[in-house]
Amino acid sequence: MRIAGFVKTTLQDWEGKNACMILLSGCNFRCPYCNRPELISGPDEEIDPSIVLRYIKENKDFLEAAVISGGEPTINGDLYKLIGDLRKLKIKIKLDTNGSNPDILDDLVGAKLVDKVCVNIMAPLDHASYSKAAGVDTDVELIKRSLRILADSGIVYEVRTVVVPGIITHDSFVKMLSDLDGLKSMIIQQFDPRVTLDPKMNVKPYPKPALVRMAETAKGYVQRVRIRGF
Ligand code: SF4
Repeated sequence: MRIAGFVKTTLQDWEGKNACMILLSGCNFRCPYCNRPELISGPDEEIDPSIVLRYIKENKDFLEAAVISGGEPTINGDLYKLIGDLRKLKIKIKLDTNGSNPDILDDLVGAKLVDKVCVNIMAPLDHASYSKAAGVDTDVELIKRSLRILADSGIVYEVRTVVVPGIITHDSFVKMLSDLDGLKSMIIQQFDPRVTLDPKMNVKPYPKPALVRMAETAKGYVQRVRIRGF
């Protein structure tokens, strides 16, 4: 199993829960603004899963959930094994995904192997916009299918969008919202330029009022909108 990183406690990644976060190596996207480039190919050193599982077991008194993130967890061949091991510990599981793997998502959600899903949506769901944001030629129909699976399943899910200057503007954000109509929960995430996959993406983030304006606009499409990263 390729565990690339482990955050013992996070209060941000599952609202209302004390969670830990398990970061899996490997990603099929190459988002130029990616803040975790070391996870795309895998870090120099990986963490023994038994250390992570033992920590969770020993701290079940305050840990309520585990967030599986990456990278892109759904391309990791050990995802099911990890989920199985976490389920044995009777801990809630949230999956972070880029939405490019609807078959796996359908299976996980259908089998109730995860309790919550967060999909990172990066741009309007058209081929040119999305391929630019993801850094690879992207079949947006896969992402749309993932969103439909989640909407039809009844599982708790949310969309997270990192607003990166040069990737998304207010206008393209509005276009993206129209693709997400009916969504219940959205996180607008401030871009962090300190570490990026493409060094040219070291651009100045939008000021907070620009994100507040996006959030106000989003409220016309999404029931609940939060801004994160300040
Ligand atoms: S930001 Fe993009 S490249 Fe980085 S882990 Fe997420 S989906 Fe992969």
